[in-house]
Amino acid sequence: MAEKKTTAKAAEEIKAVVEEVKEAAAAKEEAPKKAATKKTTRKTTTKKTAAKKDTEKTEKAPAKKTTRTRKTTAKKAAAKAEEVKAVEAPAAEEVKGVEAPVVEEVKAVEAPAVEEVKAVEAPVVEEVKAEEAPAAEEVKAEEPAAEEAPAEPDLPQPRRSIAFIGSECYPFVKTGGLGDVMYALPKALIAQNCDVKVILPRYKCIPQKWQEKMVYRGAFHMDLCADGRTYYVGIMEYVWDGVVYDFIDNEEFFSEGKPYTNLIDDIPKFCYFGKAALAALNYMDWIPDVIHCHDWQAGLVPVYLRTMFADTPVARAKVMITIHNLRFQGIYNIPTIQYWSGLPDYVFNKDALKQGYEDANMFKGGLAYANMITTVSGTYADEIQTPFYGENLDAHLRYHSGKLHGIVNGIDYGMWDPSTDKLLAAPYDAANVIEKKKANKLAMQTSLGLEQDENKFVIGLISRLTDQKGLDLVNSIVPQLMDGNTQVVVLGTGDKVYEDSFRYYENAYKGSFCAYIAYDESLAHGIYAGSDAFFVPSRFEPCGLTQLIAMHYGTVPIVRETGGLKDTVEPFNQYTGEGNGFTFDRYESGLLLDATNRAKTLFFEHREAWDNMVVRNMNKDVSWDVSAKQYRELYVQMTQ
Ligand code: ADP
Repeated sequence: MAEKKTTAKAAEEIKAVVEEVKEAAAAKEEAPKKAATKKTTRKTTTKKTAAKKDTEKTEKAPAKKTTRTRKTTAKKAAAKAEEVKAVEAPAAEEVKGVEAPVVEEVKAVEAPAVEEVKAVEAPVVEEVKAEEAPAAEEVKAEEPAAEEAPAEPDLPQPRRSIAFIGSECYPFVKTGGLGDVMYALPKALIAQNCDVKVILPRYKCIPQKWQEKMVYRGAFHMDLCADGRTYYVGIMEYVWDGVVYDFIDNEEFFSEGKPYTNLIDDIPKFCYFGKAALAALNYMDWIPDVIHCHDWQAGLVPVYLRTMFADTPVARAKVMITIHNLRFQGIYNIPTIQYWSGLPDYVFNKDALKQGYEDANMFKGGLAYANMITTVSGTYADEIQTPFYGENLDAHLRYHSGKLHGIVNGIDYGMWDPSTDKLLAAPYDAANVIEKKKANKLAMQTSLGLEQDENKFVIGLISRLTDQKGLDLVNSIVPQLMDGNTQVVVLGTGDKVYEDSFRYYENAYKGSFCAYIAYDESLAHGIYAGSDAFFVPSRFEPCGLTQLIAMHYGTVPIVRETGGLKDTVEPFNQYTGEGNGFTFDRYESGLLLDATNRAKTLFFEHREAWDNMVVRNMNKDVSWDVSAKQYRELYVQMTQ
C-alpha cells in the first residue's frame, strides 16, 4: 500500500515534471518564433528604410532618434554603398540614391567644406531619377511580403524628416505671413507623420521669455567669406509641441533690434545664415529627407547644398524652396555677394545667381538649384510666370515651371480660434456669431475711440502698409465710404505715405475712421472679431492670411481677385446665395468702391443672406490640414 502510494506520488511528480518540460519546450519553440517575427519586422523596416530612405517608417521618433536609427540602418545595410562617396555634383539626385551607409563614411562636422567645391551646372540639378538602393532589394527578396510591419493606423506613411530654414517664425519673431507659416506648417506636418526641425536666426529681438527656454546644443567655427574669415556658429535649441527649433547664434549678425534692417546688413547676415544652417545640420548629424527653404533669406541654401556642401552628409537631402513673396529677392552687386557667400565663380552665371550685368540675386540662385519650388497659391504660381507679377524672374520661373507648384496657406486653428480667443471681449462660434459679433464690435469701437453703434458697417484692414497691399485704392475711396453708416479701422505700419494719409483720415472723420499705426497682435484679434467686413485689395497677394483669418472670425472679405485671394475667396452670388465675400478684378479704385457698395447693400438690405455668409465663412475649412497633406505629398514625391 505504502509502496503503491509512493508509486502514485512518484507518478504524479513525474507527470508534473513532464508538464514542466513540455511547457519549457513550448516556450523554447515560441521564443525563436517571436524573435523571428521581431527580426522580420526589423528587417522589413530596414528594407523600406533603405529603399525609401525613410528610417522612421514604423515609429514616431524624435529628431535625434531618427538620425540614430538611420546610422544603425547604415551599419546593417553593410558595405554596399562605398561607391556613393564619389558623388558627382551635377547629378544632384544621385545624392538621393546615396543610401544610409554614407553617414558612416562622411565626417559629420565637416560642414564648411569650402575647398572641395565641385563644378555644378545649376539648372541640371533636379532632373535625374532616383535609384533604388541595392541593399534594399536584397532584403526584400528574403522577406515575405506578408511579414511587413503594420503601418500606424492614423498616420500617413512613409514618415519624412524635414528641416525648415527661414528668417522668421511666430511667436519668436514675426513681421508678416512668413512668420505664421513657419509656425503653423511644421505643427501641421507633425500630424502628417513628419519629423520637423525649424532653423532660425537667434535674433536679439526674440523676447526674453523664449530666449530663456533655449538650451545650448553646441557650437563650432565656420569659414564664410571669400578670404576665409571664420565665424562662430552657436546652436540653441528649444523643443515645443513636437517641433524642434534650432536657433543659429551669432552676436555679430543677429544683434539688431529687428530681423531685417537694410540690404547692406541683410545680405551678409543671410549669406551667413544659409551656410550656418547647413553646417549646423551636419554638426548635429541630423540629415533630413528634405530641406525646406523659405524666401530669399534662405535662398543660398540650395546653392550651398549642391556646391560647397556636395560632399558632406547633408547633401543627401532634397531641397524645396517656397516663394512667400517674390518681391523681395536679396539682390546686390556680384562682388559683395561673392565675397560674403564665398561661393565659387561658376554659380554667378545667368542661369543661377547672376541678374542683369552686375548683380547677383540670392533667390534666383536658390530657385535654380532647388529640386522643387513651391509658392503659396496656385494662382500666384501662374501669375509669377508673367511679366506683370514675375518681378523680373518670370522667364527664370517659366524655365523652371516643371518643378513649380502652388499650395495655398492655411491658418493655425490653435492660434486663431474665436471660440477660445482670450483676446476677444466675447468669444463666439458659428452658432452665436451674429449676436456675439455685436459685443465685439462695441468693445472695439470703445477701445479705438469710434462712435459706439452696433448697427454701423465696420470695415477692418490689418496690413503692412506698403504698395503691395492696394492701399492707394483704399485711400482714394475713403471719402466716398464715409456715409455716416460706415466705419473703417486700419491697423498697420509701413510706408510713411500711407501712415500719414490714414492719420489724416482719422482726423478728418473723427469717430468713424481709426488709424492705429502700430504692429499689435492683440488688437488684431479684436479687429478680426469686431469688424463686419475686411479689406484686402492687394495689387498682388501670394496667398494672404488676413482674409483667411477674417473668414474664420465670421468677417466678410472684400478682396481683389489676385493670387491666393482669388483662390480662397469665392465671390458672393446673389442668385444662389453662395460665396464668401466680395471681389473685383482690375486694380481700380472704382471697382473696390463698387465691391464695397455691394457688400453694404447686402448688409443693410438683405441681412439674412449676409448672416448666412458670416456663418458659412466660419465653417469654411481654412486650416492647414489639406495644405499640409499636399506638402507631404510633394516631400514624398521628391524623395522617392
Ligand atoms: P504679408 O505676409 O504680406 O504681410 P499676410 O496676409 O500673408 O501678409 O500675413 C499678414 C500677417 O501679419 C497676418 O497674421 C496679420 O494678422 C499680421 N499683421 C500684419 N500687420 C499687422 C499689424 N500691424 N499688427 C498685427 N498683426 C499684423
